[in-house]
Amino acid sequence: MVAEQLAARGIRSEAVLSAMGWIPRERFVPPGQQSSAYGDGALPIDCLQTISQPYMVARMTELLGLTREHRVLEIGTGSGYQTAILACLGRHVYSIEWHLKLLTLAAARLEALGLRNITLRCGDGSLGWPEQAPFNAILVTAGAPVVPSALTEQLAVGGRLVIPVGPVGDQTLVLVRRTEGGLKTEDILKCRFVKLVGAAGWRE
Ligand code: SAH
Repeated sequence: MVAEQLAARGIRSEAVLSAMGWIPRERFVPPGQQSSAYGDGALPIDCLQTISQPYMVARMTELLGLTREHRVLEIGTGSGYQTAILACLGRHVYSIEWHLKLLTLAAARLEALGLRNITLRCGDGSLGWPEQAPFNAILVTAGAPVVPSALTEQLAVGGRLVIPVGPVGDQTLVLVRRTEGGLKTEDILKCRFVKLVGAAGWRE
């Protein structure tokens, strides 16, 4: 997976490649799906959600430019796989999931891997986590109608937000940077994610 799907397609960060080589993806897919765990695609998980494609996880993580000093916010814990990768690279990861069932499963997997620098919460991540802001990096792993203003407000200066934006079937992965002079937005690639729900998301 690391060589053929990630390095061969242009993922350059050694830190991202080694985190993805270290975290066992088969522990994050549903029972019976272990043989597909290293395939080149998203897979269905509970609550009609998906575990993202490995390449997309790598690309989004690389775009965040994480260091060991960074406080990270993730919206959409899902299986917890992306959370584990972020925890390998950042100082602390705060992750919010809408579905309690998914959060409970993810918490057990992350605990079993011994990852301690993670705080999980069940709720609406479209509003961010104001009590823990500002964040150096924010990653949204579900597609939003527009970039939620609560999230850009919770970005530290120098911070980066990566988020899929647009209607299902026509989403663009967007990188937003907060600089001293304001926000800079860049379109990265076309993508396909499940819907972000909640106050700044789509109706369920
Ligand atoms: N990174 C996850 C992706 C899961 S799919 C993985 O690879 O496993 C996206 C997740 O976002 C789903 O679990 C969905 O329930 C969650 N989600 C959608 N809207 C949300 C919201 N407003 N707040 C928190 N989580 C949300």
